[in-house]
Amino acid sequence: MKKTDLHELRKDPLLGRWVAVLNQSKSPSEYGQYALDADKEENCIFCAGKEKDTPGEICSIPKSGTGHNPHEWWTRVIPNFNPIFRVEGELGRKGEGMYDKMNSIGANEIIIESPEHSVRPEDIGLDQMVRVIMTYKDRMVDLEKDHRLRYTLIYKNSGRKAGADFSHPISHLASTPVIPKRVKEELDGAKQYYAYKERCIFCDIVREELRTATRVITETRYFVAFCPFASKFPFETSIIPKRHNCAFQDIRTDEIEDLALILSVILKKLRASLTNLPFNYFIHSAPNRIPRKNHWHTLGDDFHWHLEIMPRLLNTSGFEWSSGFYILPTSPEDAAKHLREV
Ligand SMILES: [Zn+2]
Ligand SMILES: [Zn+2]
Ligand SMILES: [Zn+2]
Repeated sequence: MKKTDLHELRKDPLLGRWVAVLNQSKSPSEYGQYALDADKEENCIFCAGKEKDTPGEICSIPKSGTGHNPHEWWTRVIPNFNPIFRVEGELGRKGEGMYDKMNSIGANEIIIESPEHSVRPEDIGLDQMVRVIMTYKDRMVDLEKDHRLRYTLIYKNSGRKAGADFSHPISHLASTPVIPKRVKEELDGAKQYYAYKERCIFCDIVREELRTATRVITETRYFVAFCPFASKFPFETSIIPKRHNCAFQDIRTDEIEDLALILSVILKKLRASLTNLPFNYFIHSAPNRIPRKNHWHTLGDDFHWHLEIMPRLLNTSGFEWSSGFYILPTSPEDAAKHLREV
């Protein structure tokens, strides 16, 4: 792709939401087509042994004692082969009439979670889950250094209905030159709560959930997993660290081990309760902490990183799209009770 072929980011002037407009428009007939062949194990380029077929490796955790054998790794990170956001180039912010746009500068990476093709996320094993989370942390630490990037999202799509294109276990990373709207809403909400109460809303939620315990699924030394009081989706689960910290990349090694444990337990419980559940999970951390005058100056106190798991059991209807109002066929209390007992 040439520099002039960068995708374009456009801002909705009413809602302040950014969208990415791809530079090569799909025709109507191209929708709904899916290259199933690329997903078969024999054609999968994420499997061990196919390292030469992927774009150049960004980093990896090699298996120890294997020398520098490029086929022996635990996790690998590669650039996305169809990136929406690209590292090279200028932001090129400009107006077009009343509208705002810029180039889609950023990063799009694929985190290969395992050399094995068919391992399910809940069966990946504790040691491997620790390595996956360590890889997430390493990438966040690295990308935070690029001052053009405002936000890094790490997310996982599991199952076609949740947007997964491949059956090989992978996570995605997207670094954007703007703070995504959904994240900004959380940052603003947390900031307002802090301004009023002088306490972190997430620390308060952790205390309240542990006190009432009706929505708690499980807790470990450093984390609590619960179904949020006003969840959007049935069986939605939040995992929040008990220690206040705004940035995921500040996580300590003992906390990584604990997060791997609680995440594996929750994914196993969801799997045991809901057959072939499609889901997404993602990490909400603080934006890149670039000093900006009079803005986010209480960020370190008012925001608190967390992981959210969104089961994709329902299709979104016109009501949710038009109103942002969600209907929960299972209460968070009943969902938590079920997941505790399974
Ligand atoms: Zn594979
Ligand atoms: Zn907190
Ligand atoms: Zn969140």
